[in-house]
Amino acid sequence: MVSEPRALDRPVVVIGAGAAGLVAAASAAAQGRPTILLEGSAKIGTKILISGGGRCNVLPGEFDESAFFTQGSRNVLRRLFRTWPHAEIRRWFEDELGVALKLEEESGKLFPRSDKARTVRDALVEHCRSLGVQIETSWRVAGLRPPQEGQPAWLIEAEGEAHPPLQADRVILATGGQSVPKTGSDGHGYKMARDLGHTTLPVYPALVPLKHAEADLLALSGVTVPVHWSTWKDGKRLEQGVRSALLTHQGMSGPAILDASHSVVRDGAELRLGWGGHDREAWSALLRDTAARTLGSFVQEHLPRRLAQTLLARAQLHEDQVLAQFTREARDRLLSVLGDFPLPVTGNRGFAVAEVTGGGIPLAEVQPSTLESRKQPGLFLCGEILDCIGRIGGHNFLWAWVTGRLAGTQAARQD
Ligand SMILES: Cc1cc2nc3c(=O)[nH]c(=O)nc-3n(C[C@H](O)[C@H](O)[C@H](O)COP(=O)(O)OP(=O)(O)OC[C@H]3O[C@@H](n4cnc5c(N)ncnc54)[C@H](O)[C@@H]3O)c2cc1C
Repeated sequence: MVSEPRALDRPVVVIGAGAAGLVAAASAAAQGRPTILLEGSAKIGTKILISGGGRCNVLPGEFDESAFFTQGSRNVLRRLFRTWPHAEIRRWFEDELGVALKLEEESGKLFPRSDKARTVRDALVEHCRSLGVQIETSWRVAGLRPPQEGQPAWLIEAEGEAHPPLQADRVILATGGQSVPKTGSDGHGYKMARDLGHTTLPVYPALVPLKHAEADLLALSGVTVPVHWSTWKDGKRLEQGVRSALLTHQGMSGPAILDASHSVVRDGAELRLGWGGHDREAWSALLRDTAARTLGSFVQEHLPRRLAQTLLARAQLHEDQVLAQFTREARDRLLSVLGDFPLPVTGNRGFAVAEVTGGGIPLAEVQPSTLESRKQPGLFLCGEILDCIGRIGGHNFLWAWVTGRLAGTQAARQD
C-alpha cells in the first residue's frame, strides 16, 4: 500500500525570487525544510540588479521607523522590524553572505563595497543553493489551490502547459508589487491573493517622478538642485524633507520628488518647493543678511544660474535690482517663489518607472508574529505585496529582508 507523503516531506514553496523571496527561501531551508523557489521570469532578482542605479542600496545607514508608510498599524510595523534588527541584517550580509558593505556618507545609504548590485543578487542565490533550495526559473504561477477534503496539500498551478502542478505543505507569496512590470512583478500576486480571500488596498505608483506643464521649468531639463519639499492637504502639512531634485523634460524627479510623490499620488496632496533646500523662513533669513547686494548675485549664489533667472522672472523681478531698495510687496513675492513654490502637478510617470507600489494586502490580514495569512492557514506573505513602503534610501529592501526572513522561518516551523 502506498502511504500519503507526510506533510513535512512536502516542500515549502516560495513564489517569486526577488529580494523577499530569496531571503524567505533561504530562511525556510535553513530550518531543514525542503524548499522550492519558483520564479516566473527567466532571471532571478531582476529588481535587485537594476536597484540603486545598478549599485543596489542594500540598507539605510540606520534604521528609521518614520521612513515607512502603511495604512495599517504602526505597532505591527514595529513588531515586524524588531524580529530582525538593522545591525543584525548588516552582519548577516557581511558575515553569512560575504557581501562587504560601505556607508556612503553624503546619502547615509549602505551599498556593496563592489558598487555592483550583481554582488548582492549572486550572494543571495549562492546562499539559497548552499542551503539546498531548489530554484526554478521560467516557472510562472497562475494560481493556488489550498488544501481541502481529499487533497491535503497546496496545489500550485503553472501558467500554460510548461509544468505539472506542484504540491506544497506551505506557500509563501513573495510576488512583489506591480512597479516596473517588465521585471516580472506585474501585480498577478494580488489577484492570486484575492482569489484566496484576501482584499487589496488600492495600489498606486509610489516613489515616482511627477509631471507638470510649467513650460519655463520644463525648459530647464537636466538641472539638479536641492529642494525643501513639503506636501499639504486641507491647509495641513503632511510631510517635509530636504533632498536633491532633478528638473526633467516631463516634470521633476530625483530623491526629493520621489519621497514626496506618494502623498501627492495617494492623498492628492499639494507639493510646495523651497528651492536651494531653503524654505520661506530660511530664504527670509538669507535675504536679511545680504541687503546691500543685487538680486541676481544673491540668488545665483544659492541656485543654478538658469533656474535663478527663471524664478526671478516668475517673481516679476530683475537681477539688477538692489535688495536694500525692495518694497515689502516685492520681497514677499520673491520669498513665495523661492521658498514656498506650489508645483502644479498634473500626473505621474506611472508603474512603468515607479520604484515601488503603494497599497496592496493590508497588514491586518496577516498574523504579525508569523506573516501567516489570516484568510488561508499555510499561506504566508512577504515583501512589497504587503501594504508598506519606505522612503528611498534602502528602506524598501530592509522591508523585503525583514518580512522575507520572518515568513520563511515561520513557514518552515514544524507544528
Ligand atoms: C528602478 C528601481 C530601483 C530600486 N532601488 C532600490 C534601492 O536601491 N534600495 C531599495 O531599498 N529599494 C529599491 N527599489 C525597491 C526594491 O527593488 C523593491 O522594494 C524590492 O525589490 C521588493 O522586493 P520583493 O521581493 O517584494 O518584490 P520583487 O523584487 O518585485 O520580486 C518579486 C518576484 O516575483 C516574481 N513573480 C511575480 N509574479 C509571479 C508569478 N505569478 N509566478 C512566479 N513568479 C512571480 C517576479 O518576477 C519577481 O522576480 C528599487 C526599485 C526599482 C524599480
